Amino acid sequence: MATGSINVSVENIFPLIKKFLYSDHEIFLRELISNATDATLKLKHLTSIGEVKVEYGNPLIEIKIDKDKKQLHIIDQGIGMTAEEVEKYINQVAFSGAEEFLEKYKDSAKDSGIIGHFGLGFYSAFMVADKVEIITKSYKDEPAAHWICDGSPTYSIEEHDKTERGTEIILHIGEDDVEFLEDSRIRELLVKYNKFMPVSIKFGTKTETLPKPEDAKEEDPAPTQEVDNIINNPNPAWTKQPTDLKDEDYKGFYRELYPMQFEEPLFNIHLNVDYPFNLTGILYFPKLGQDMNIQKDRIQLYQNQVFVTDNVEGIVPEFLTMLRGVIDSPDIPLNVSRSYLQADGNVKKISSYITRKVADKLNSMFKNNREDFEQKWNDIKIVIEYGMLSEEKFFEKADKFALYPTVDGSFFTFEELQEKIKDSQTDKDGKLVLLYASNKDEQHSYISAAKDKGYEVLLLDSPIVSHLIQKMETSKENISFARVDGDHIDNLIKKDEETISKLSDEEKEALKADLEKVVPKETYTVQLEAMDSNASPFMITQPEFMRRMKEMQQTGGGGGMFGMGNMPE
Ligand code: ADP
Ligand code: MG
Repeated sequence: MATGSINVSVENIFPLIKKFLYSDHEIFLRELISNATDATLKLKHLTSIGEVKVEYGNPLIEIKIDKDKKQLHIIDQGIGMTAEEVEKYINQVAFSGAEEFLEKYKDSAKDSGIIGHFGLGFYSAFMVADKVEIITKSYKDEPAAHWICDGSPTYSIEEHDKTERGTEIILHIGEDDVEFLEDSRIRELLVKYNKFMPVSIKFGTKTETLPKPEDAKEEDPAPTQEVDNIINNPNPAWTKQPTDLKDEDYKGFYRELYPMQFEEPLFNIHLNVDYPFNLTGILYFPKLGQDMNIQKDRIQLYQNQVFVTDNVEGIVPEFLTMLRGVIDSPDIPLNVSRSYLQADGNVKKISSYITRKVADKLNSMFKNNREDFEQKWNDIKIVIEYGMLSEEKFFEKADKFALYPTVDGSFFTFEELQEKIKDSQTDKDGKLVLLYASNKDEQHSYISAAKDKGYEVLLLDSPIVSHLIQKMETSKENISFARVDGDHIDNLIKKDEETISKLSDEEKEALKADLEKVVPKETYTVQLEAMDSNASPFMITQPEFMRRMKEMQQTGGGGGMFGMGNMPE
């Protein structure tokens, strides 16, 4: 038997990286800006611990397009590299200088926000460029280096006369990727990926209007000046302490996240945990109105303030994907498939942490200001009810604050409701019967008939109500739900057995027979019991189980929430 080692040569690996490493060409910019940010944060860290004695100042990252030369420049004022370091960090594919840095400064640099860790990001440049140049000057007292590579495994490196500290990456954009020489395309990418990165990013300049001087005449135009166009907010709200933020700050950040959203959020939940995983973020409960755009305005996932995706499926429990906001965690493995993600231990913990935080927030709102909570109920119930259906842990918590509104506009928790009806709404087996209506107008006469008998009628009108009812019936002992126009209502023990009907028994039978001629027997039942109240002469009811079956079919048996027929879009 012979053994050997597989020889991976760069010649083989290079085209692979170019083609398959990232499915999305556009992420090259995110990677290069991440490296520029890391280089800046490293310098910040080293100056803060006194290891490097240079002025940190107020460093910028600049993105420049040179259309004529078909070049894109990414320039930073960070730590820079010596020629030796270029050999070490750049020429070795899959060797991460970021990881090495974090390892070396383990204790102090934990929270430095360094982004890189695979040692592959830089090479994404070759997805869009035929040739890449690096001109870099280290903070160390050594000459600058100029590295050039045309995408083949050979490169050249020589000295350069650059004097300012930092690195400039020059991409010679290839024929197929000229879109990345367009201002609008680059701006779009910067806004998408870099909007909240921790180092200021400059892209061009903009004209700023200054206040008029005191002695200016009415007709004088206001003075203007050209200033750097900084595209990012390096200190977004979620990186701050909740105690340092006011309600206004949270609302302001919501507008920053979703500039096209004019409706204010209902409330927010600030996430902040560093053990056993690191996660920060702010989630918002949106008003689920007409302008709700589930597809577009979604929760955004960041890693160290770099945008990763707005598809948080598998990370955030499905019922919470209707929320908005940001979560930021370096502990979510990303270059892996979604199915792997769901099995990942950290991701599971993150998902249940988020569920718990949301439940706790709702519970404290319910406890601290019930009236306000009741007012919000209509807007938040779909999320809560869906959560109760899909997550057992959430059900247990939400059972204490989930509200059951009545047709008269009062709200009960399940426990309160039970207490209220325990003597008046039981059937012959002693089961509690919860009467509900799903449409106040359509079921008007049934509702008033039930109310006349002294029953409490709930108004349950959300699209998933049939699933929720079934869930409640299986989770709670000795209860059953019955819609006011269902046949169950006559199983209730009547409080008042006295009849006020003006018809004799024979007359009733005759009327019933007539009615049954026009009402399809298979699906409906004609009842004359309603005559016992003053509401209406007779009722046509549908067996509870038949209606439920139909509803379940319509709402897709509890499958994906977005598959439901009447979800707000
Ligand atoms: P990673 O960022 O995961 O470490 P990259 O392939 O993105 O891997 O980059 C490799 C290494 O090259 C970095 O870790 C860093 O040491 C060095 N590097 C890349 N860009 C710069 C830059 N702009 N300034 C200084 N060093 C850089
Ligand atoms: Mg990197």
